[in-house]
Amino acid sequence: MTTYVYPFSAGSMEQKDLLGGKGANLAEMTRMGLPVPPGFTITTEACRYFMHHGDIPAGLAEQIREQLIGVEESIGRRFGDPHEPLLVSVRSGAARSMPGMMETVLNVGLNDETVHGLAAMAGGDERFAMDSYRRLLQMFGRTVQDIDADLFEEVLDRQKAERGVATDVELSAADMERVVEEFKAIIRRETGADFPQDPHEQLHRSMLAVFRSWNAPRAIVFRNAERISHESGTAVNIGAMVFGNLDEDSATGVGFTRDPATGAPGIYGDFLVRAQGEDVVAGIRNTRSLPELEQVMPEVYAQLSGIMEQLEEHYRDLCDIEFTVESGTLWMLQTRVGKRTAAAAFRIAATLVEEGTISAEEALTRVSGAELTRLMFPHFAPDPGRRAIARGMNASPGAAVGPLAFTNEEAEAAQWDGTPAILVRRETNPDDLAGMIAAAGVLTARGGRTSHAAVVARGLGRTCVVGVEALEVDEADGVIRLNGEIAARRGDEISIDGTTGEVFLGAQPVEPSDVARYLSGEVTVEQAAAGEAGELVQAVHLLMGVADRVRRLRVRANADTPEDAARARDMGAEGIGLARTEHMFLGDRRPLVEALILAATPGERQVALDALLPLQRGDFLALMQEMGERPVTIRLLDPPLHEFLPDITELSVRIARAEEHEGATEHDLRLLDAVRRLHEQNPMLGLRGVRLGLSIPGLYGMQVRAILEAEALALADGGAPRVEIMIPLVSSVREVREIKQELLAVRDDVRRESGQDLTTTIGTMIELPRAALRADEIAQEAEFFSFGTNDLTQTTWGFSRDDVEAGFFFTYRDRGILLISPFESLDQFGVGELVRIGTERGRSTRPGLKVGVCGEHGGDPASIHFFHWAGLDYVSCSPFRVPVARLEAGRAALLEEEFTPQH
Ligand code: ADP
Ligand code: MG
Ligand code: MG
Repeated sequence: MTTYVYPFSAGSMEQKDLLGGKGANLAEMTRMGLPVPPGFTITTEACRYFMHHGDIPAGLAEQIREQLIGVEESIGRRFGDPHEPLLVSVRSGAARSMPGMMETVLNVGLNDETVHGLAAMAGGDERFAMDSYRRLLQMFGRTVQDIDADLFEEVLDRQKAERGVATDVELSAADMERVVEEFKAIIRRETGADFPQDPHEQLHRSMLAVFRSWNAPRAIVFRNAERISHESGTAVNIGAMVFGNLDEDSATGVGFTRDPATGAPGIYGDFLVRAQGEDVVAGIRNTRSLPELEQVMPEVYAQLSGIMEQLEEHYRDLCDIEFTVESGTLWMLQTRVGKRTAAAAFRIAATLVEEGTISAEEALTRVSGAELTRLMFPHFAPDPGRRAIARGMNASPGAAVGPLAFTNEEAEAAQWDGTPAILVRRETNPDDLAGMIAAAGVLTARGGRTSHAAVVARGLGRTCVVGVEALEVDEADGVIRLNGEIAARRGDEISIDGTTGEVFLGAQPVEPSDVARYLSGEVTVEQAAAGEAGELVQAVHLLMGVADRVRRLRVRANADTPEDAARARDMGAEGIGLARTEHMFLGDRRPLVEALILAATPGERQVALDALLPLQRGDFLALMQEMGERPVTIRLLDPPLHEFLPDITELSVRIARAEEHEGATEHDLRLLDAVRRLHEQNPMLGLRGVRLGLSIPGLYGMQVRAILEAEALALADGGAPRVEIMIPLVSSVREVREIKQELLAVRDDVRRESGQDLTTTIGTMIELPRAALRADEIAQEAEFFSFGTNDLTQTTWGFSRDDVEAGFFFTYRDRGILLISPFESLDQFGVGELVRIGTERGRSTRPGLKVGVCGEHGGDPASIHFFHWAGLDYVSCSPFRVPVARLEAGRAALLEEEFTPQH
């Protein structure tokens, strides 16, 4: 029989997939001998069974009873015992942390009888017992019975108002008893049945609610955003309750072993005396900072800080914790390797190397390209005249500017319009997730640095300011007020600084971050180290150095102009992987290109080509000079010709107008004729790439001559250019043969004319499925490959990029058919399989064939790991993404053994 239930004493932190992160870490803390209330974990396997069959597996109920008896024995109290009841918590916990996404029910086991037993155990404290009972009713009603949470909140608010008190701690036993009665009435009214008095029924139904919460809409949104599989399911943790709301010697809190915002060392967190569970993170009462616990409960604080140190040593990383103190006794309720901001991730990784805790290589695996991207975001330019309208706590760094949005819908609409909003809420809860994902930044009036808004924003990399107490958020009127005055309205631009906690009106100007200035070579690490972000830049410097040392993938950039090339080089690009020649055909050269297209005779065509040749030669020479000895891959003309001609409607109108007067010009009429001739229903699949080169005699010959003459000039100048010519949109080896013959003839000519020893190689792009499949043949002619994964994605899936991103992609995403656009991150099983096959087959006929990739995927972290795995030689991406690609290429090399292709 399958074991579906494991006591905390039987597991370990390695078992996250089976026990979930929370369960595995509770087990680990138990193994370490830390004070964890006894309990057990129901596996994710049981959840998966439930999701597939709609029912729990055979044997599960018995295994739960058996483990519950174990807990009863170790605590010395019985579940459902009216005199000395054992109470338990029922908590979700998936393999990958999904903070606040799923459900938890506390105080399970309380009913009209046991509540008095609980009071007796607490020295006759009826208030405490009633408070615990109302919490159970509230959580059970909301999460198990789907009752609107506001119904419960309203009762509490009314009770507090009637008593003239601000917080629930000030309500008396009788008040709480009234709340309990009203809560029971709500449950009766909303469900048509009384609150279940049987503790085992409470437990069973809570467990099912946790299973179901795996598929709650917000959990699905979260998994899509984080690219977590929808299949894995959640574990359920059941543990003996401890009470932070028992008396003045009781408290509950959360903490971090270092500052999760900056990475600075030192204990960090919040606590509340006389409180339970979510009180701290919900922003209901104002919390106190964890170091203050030293004054309130010195012994507990000493024990707790010792444990935190022990945890950090054990996990060799920043940990976060949840703890509760019951009448002076400390209990650990949760730990995990904690979430942190991008800046903290780099600083902590580098500090742990300095402290000798981890190796430099391991440190590199602790950071990510996505985090590096965040550090490269701009921040507000210093401006002594700028005045903040308010200030809160700096919960997640960055400079965010955008229109004010009050709801998920508004934030999503703003994102859709291309101007992501600042989402403003009194406080956030898990239902606000979609808005937080869509927003540029999040601003809340309540809550501390460990509030929901802060934790989730840090995880998502959104700028966040919380706890702006002066702020009144009026969603109904669509305004925010400060001291009663309207400060800004829905849609007004505001700016928030997640590094300082300041809030400004209007769109404040931003400037490059120190990290971006360092990575773009604008300042040296020594110069940057003197600045405000000095420690951070040094950490980035250290880890980039490790990445450059260990990576096998070379990193090039896509650059068409000498300016782009210079920027790419400064960002650390080791060459140009794609120089497009089409822009060289635009601007004031358009008439020359038109002449080429309109040419009626070979003579006319030659005139046009001869005029373009010196211009192109100049372009190429400038690129080669900029890149020195680094390779430069130049792609021959790719786009369909009509892109260089006027729009057919515009032209027709122009001709029609002209005909009413003096008559259309001969030129316009010939143009119209050409436009009609070249019109294609689907130009993406039409006359472009090598097809163009084969259709317009002399075109590719001219481009190649320009490239080779530039190379000869660079050589004559004492340079050592490394030039690669790339033929686009190839599908058959015969195309390559034809073109190559022409190109080789030109190469012989230029060699003879210049007397220079040209080393240019000629390769192909692989961007059609047929080319990938026939790569063995193609490689007999091509001296290198470069995968054009944008076109390869279009042609493999059979949909065009523009249509996908504007249209049915959202339907596909909502239905879980696509988790992420295949244009953003490589479809590893489909398009990636073609990359793998193409590489393998190409090298089967030309061992050592150089293979690269150009296209958006070259700068995407997940795709880079795939390209490393598939054995490519380099990736090429836009200059700004080069540092990210270098970092991820390093990580890919270190993590290669763990890699398998992913959806
Ligand atoms: P989340 O995953 O959202 O953090 P948890 O399952 O950790 O949810 O539980 C919610 C709250 O209840 C936390 O503050 C936690 O510390 C508290 N809690 C959980 N189990 C117990 C327990 N056995 N005794 C007291 N408090 C508990
Ligand atoms: Mg928790
Ligand atoms: Mg292409």
